[in-house]
Amino acid sequence: EARESGRNQWVWYANEMANLRESKRDMARRIERALKNDEFRLHYQPRYQLSGGQLAGAEALIRWQTAPDQWITPDRFIPLAEENGLIATISDWVLKRACEDALAWGGDRYVSVNISPIEFRTTDLVQRVANVLKESGLPATRLELEITENVTFEHPQQALEVMQGLRSLGVRLTVDDFGTGYAALGYLKTFPFNGLKIDRSWMKDFPESQQAQSVVAGIIALARAFALTITAEGIETEAQLNQLKILSCEEGQGYFLGRPMPLAAFSTLLERTTQNNREQA
Ligand code: C2E
Ligand code: MG
Ligand code: MG
Ligand code: MG
Repeated sequence: EARESGRNQWVWYANEMANLRESKRDMARRIERALKNDEFRLHYQPRYQLSGGQLAGAEALIRWQTAPDQWITPDRFIPLAEENGLIATISDWVLKRACEDALAWGGDRYVSVNISPIEFRTTDLVQRVANVLKESGLPATRLELEITENVTFEHPQQALEVMQGLRSLGVRLTVDDFGTGYAALGYLKTFPFNGLKIDRSWMKDFPESQQAQSVVAGIIALARAFALTITAEGIETEAQLNQLKILSCEEGQGYFLGRPMPLAAFSTLLERTTQNNREQA
């Protein structure tokens, strides 16, 4: 009897594994089809200079539109794309679209694109970024790449070379989601980052909790020791914004300042901002 149920369990397990494999293959096909059918969209979330309140640039965030009112968030398909090898194809699409859009904004505001740590396994990332800059005509200084900290580089030496290649193109590199993963002092010292984004989980009890305040102040001090530009993400309240200003955090991003929005809405925001600046001048 026990053997019987053990076998049933095994059958169940084997079926589950087959289903999982099937659904992963299925997902890979769906992503490929979505690329072909132009179902991906970029939303832009504004990033502000905290001291003067100027609009500094925007982070490009991918959305998958499966129906007119149906969206799949990146957390649900980026990890799968990283597994099935489609991430580079997605990134190429994101880079192209983001660079073309940013060029159309005019001015000198940057666009920030998320790149998966997995893509640092191969040196072709440098060539791909060089190509997209050349084809779009966007100055390299207006492109920033965000690399999430919660995945370690499998081949640190390789990753270092890729980063150096990107830096020599003139592109800026930022550690994303700092304070959630493995990155420590050594990481900031080894890799040629220009900036650091404090993970939004640290904003949760900030500024009420003394501990959260100390941690954020500590990360800011740490970033400063490495001459990194500091951005706080996930700013949802005025109290958070004010305290970050007091701590001399340089840039900020979050629902309180602006939600991710379609290109048209971001362009309107840009126009309004430029107009206000002209009126103030
Ligand atoms: P991330 O790079 O850390 O992006 C910030 C995420 O926080 C975004 O979620 C954004 O919508 C959200 N967010 C911004 N402000 C606030 C706030 O005030 N409160 C809260 N609760 N959330 C806020 P989103 O767009 O769902 O993206 C999730 C993650 O997916 C991103 O985290 C990034 O790691 C990844 N991702 C997004 N687009 C791309 C892409 O084009 N390529 C790659 N490789 N990854 C991407
Ligand atoms: Mg990011
Ligand atoms: Mg982040
Ligand atoms: Mg992230």
